[in-house]
Amino acid sequence: MQLTDYLYDLDTLLVHAGEPRPPMGGAVILPVFQSATFAYPDPCTTDAALRYIRLNNTPNHEVLHAKLAALEKAEAALVTASGMAAIAAVLLTVLGTGDRMMVQEGLYGGTHGLVHQDLKRLGIEADVVCNDDPADWRRRLQPTTRAFYVETITNPTMRVADLEAVAAFSREHGLVSIIDNTFASPVNFRPVEHGFDLSLHSATKYLNGHSDIVAGAVMGRADLVDRVRQRLDHLGAALDPHACFLLHRGLKTLGVRVRQQNRGAEAVARFLAAHPAVTRVNYPGLESHPDHHRARRLFEGYGGMLSFEIDGGVAAAEAFLSRLRLPVVAPSLGGVESLVTRPAATSHAGMSPAARRAMGVSESLVRLSVGIEAPRDLIADLDQALAGR
Ligand code: PLP
Repeated sequence: MQLTDYLYDLDTLLVHAGEPRPPMGGAVILPVFQSATFAYPDPCTTDAALRYIRLNNTPNHEVLHAKLAALEKAEAALVTASGMAAIAAVLLTVLGTGDRMMVQEGLYGGTHGLVHQDLKRLGIEADVVCNDDPADWRRRLQPTTRAFYVETITNPTMRVADLEAVAAFSREHGLVSIIDNTFASPVNFRPVEHGFDLSLHSATKYLNGHSDIVAGAVMGRADLVDRVRQRLDHLGAALDPHACFLLHRGLKTLGVRVRQQNRGAEAVARFLAAHPAVTRVNYPGLESHPDHHRARRLFEGYGGMLSFEIDGGVAAAEAFLSRLRLPVVAPSLGGVESLVTRPAATSHAGMSPAARRAMGVSESLVRLSVGIEAPRDLIADLDQALAGR
């Protein structure tokens, strides 16, 4: 199937886009090419494209590149050894010593560390800007600002920045617009359609969906993806072919998984919002969420991630977690099984309580990644865990 076959629905592209036709050796499922290197097609002309795992161009990589590009209607795509490898390769491609970038408040912790520690050591500065105030962005813009970096939905309060304004502002000022689209997945939001230059994923999460590999992805403008690919070749952060195979298999069910997760999370959010022991629910699908109208306009679904506060502080939140029977208390998200954490003790433990409070992360905030379990079973489990407070 050609990349230009964008007339197909996302669910069809998930299954068929990028697949070799006719199938290689007749294999309906592309096998794992567990070979570090590949023979030159002609022994006398070694300038033909060299296939080598680190260069991200084995058949297992290429099918993923074509499929991922089709899913987000991007010109090109690239898989990487992890989500952080994708983010690092992109930022090290777009920015150099003396450059600045604008970043949104409340970035994922790993990205925050990369930007404010590692890139800073290389002489790359970041200006933290608010989510939806172009006047603020204009004030902070400097001649050396090169990129604008946001996340589709922030963790763990699920805020949604004015994403279209970010893309438009970046275009107007010649900045590369970059978005981490992990939380939404291409089922719910396709950044390129809204003007972003590059979309990044921790493919560890929804794209793979089975919590059994770490992987990353970059989709977007072909010229930029090509430069990122060259940088990645030097950084050596290629995805292993077996992980490619698992990501390829996981991707085919992305549509059915994410739509079930959208349904489950919305049902759970509405149940929690009506529960007397819950003081606050952060879910962009709820009318009470501060960015609900924006999310409704931009997204095809509100996603599987939500967070909520339990009356009674840390002790109540910890007791609740220990009574849960279905969600596993573990980091990460986006898998078929529900996962739950208390961000103040896990992802945001490195921040001061005051800094956490400023970003809406109380000690008793619980984050839930809703899996594909039957929503009524999840709700019954949450209900019994809340009732035992
Ligand atoms: N981006 C987001 C939004 C994440 O939640 C994570 C990991 O939790 C990452 C990036 C990093 O991805 P990985 O763990 O695959 O390197």
